[in-house]
Amino acid sequence: MSTNKRITVAYGDGIGPEIMEATLRIMDAAEVGIEYDVIEIGEQVYKAGHKSGISPESWETLRANPYFLKAPITTPQGGGYKSLNVTIRKSLGLYSNVRPFRAYPPYVPSFFPHMDVVIVRENEEDLYAGIEYQQTSEVVQTLKLISDPGSEKIVRYAFEYARAYGRKKVTCMTKDNIMKHSDGLFHKIFNEVAKEYPEIEADHWIIDIGSAVVAARPESLDVVVTLNLYGDIVSDIAAEVAGSVGMAGSSNVGMNHSMFEAIHGSAPDIAGKNIANPSGLLNGATMMLVQMGMADKAELIQNAWLKTLEDGVHTGDIYRAQRSAERVGTKEFADAVIARLGQVPSKLKAVKYNENVSINVDVKEKPQQKKELVGVDVFIDWRENNRDVNVLGGKLSANVSTGKLTLKEISNRGVLVYPNGVPEAFKSDHWRCRYTNPNGETLSNSDVIELMKKVQEAGFDFVKTEHLYHFDGERGYSLSQGG
Ligand code: NAD
Repeated sequence: MSTNKRITVAYGDGIGPEIMEATLRIMDAAEVGIEYDVIEIGEQVYKAGHKSGISPESWETLRANPYFLKAPITTPQGGGYKSLNVTIRKSLGLYSNVRPFRAYPPYVPSFFPHMDVVIVRENEEDLYAGIEYQQTSEVVQTLKLISDPGSEKIVRYAFEYARAYGRKKVTCMTKDNIMKHSDGLFHKIFNEVAKEYPEIEADHWIIDIGSAVVAARPESLDVVVTLNLYGDIVSDIAAEVAGSVGMAGSSNVGMNHSMFEAIHGSAPDIAGKNIANPSGLLNGATMMLVQMGMADKAELIQNAWLKTLEDGVHTGDIYRAQRSAERVGTKEFADAVIARLGQVPSKLKAVKYNENVSINVDVKEKPQQKKELVGVDVFIDWRENNRDVNVLGGKLSANVSTGKLTLKEISNRGVLVYPNGVPEAFKSDHWRCRYTNPNGETLSNSDVIELMKKVQEAGFDFVKTEHLYHFDGERGYSLSQGG
């Protein structure tokens, strides 16, 4: 809980100013007692030459205040502009993206009227590190980096969230049947952390079938925790099936800072017309109030909002003649919510937040593991002799080896092709040549350098190396498929 009542506010682009104005007016009417430091972000800032859509002065404000309420912005196309959201998430260490998706039947049609799922997405790691290399004419690589503390932080956050909000189950989604090391680490940490929360059910789905469950049986899910890319995808699926894309808010939470917003964009097609639905941003603001220790104010606003929905006072995006009473604009919708402050819904379930929602994530540094170098993979760019791998294997065996390291196998795009490989396997120009010590001796970096000199002398074009380690005696690298 924080007693700091100053927050940073950005009005954003498109419908941003209209929905922010409506949201702040509702918060002020609820007497939340917050002061606002307004910063400029978005399209105009990009066009003024700030490639990330934010100026250095605005950074000072963002750093000074722990909470940031942000309206959507328009990212200009092309021109090397960087995503403002990604920049803010990474710079402020906002490791957790929380997106609650709830159905509001019959006011907002949903295939799943009882759906109430919270997706907790890891926000900083995975393929979003944006580390990419083209290595040969034919092969490009993106690094997927998963860290032990990064995984523990998000998994703990999900369980702490479940505990704080009275949720019953946390479901982990990974693809560790294929990525046994990276996704395997995330799943292993999930299993370990789950034991510390015996009152909360814990289960795991492989992400592909897990996504199908989100789409087909979301009512069986409660809190979902997953890696960055999968979280990006499943949260869009969840938003779509809940039917409330325009109404969902989200939080991006870090150790010292948090950012709250609507999940939708700046909707330039309806900007300036007083027709946008401010509910997504208002729901983001409600999440912020709970986190700021103002559960009573969050409840006051959320229940007035639910009452407005069930009274049929609807903006154009959810207005339907058969079930709505009145079609209103953005300003009038805010007025209707303000008029209902202090009321609770009678058909939709009223909300009750825990007064002391405090989510404390404490990740302790683990002891360093014992690391032993047992080999090296040398990646070679090669397309001679019609890509006949027996020629490549023969040349490497004959000319490239040292007293400590000899060729064990060659794989291409992960598939074993030499010796005794799958002859039909497609062969790109990117060959992984695995060198190990036949007697299982532990090696040093000097042994790798000695080998690399031989690779160079033999005229091979090496594009990268990867060291093969054992950590605490466990193999820390994958085997070739078909090997
Ligand atoms: P969008 O979410 O802005 O709009 C999609 C559709 O939903 C449009 O038809 C729009 O009119 C409607 N819509 C969205 N919010 C609404 C609301 N509150 N009330 C009523 N209708 C609403 O998505 P888009 O058109 O793909 O993107 C527009 C811009 O927003 C792009 O520049 C994109 O980069 C940006 N964007 C920003 C954020 C963010 O700042 N967090 C997120 C997504 C997209």
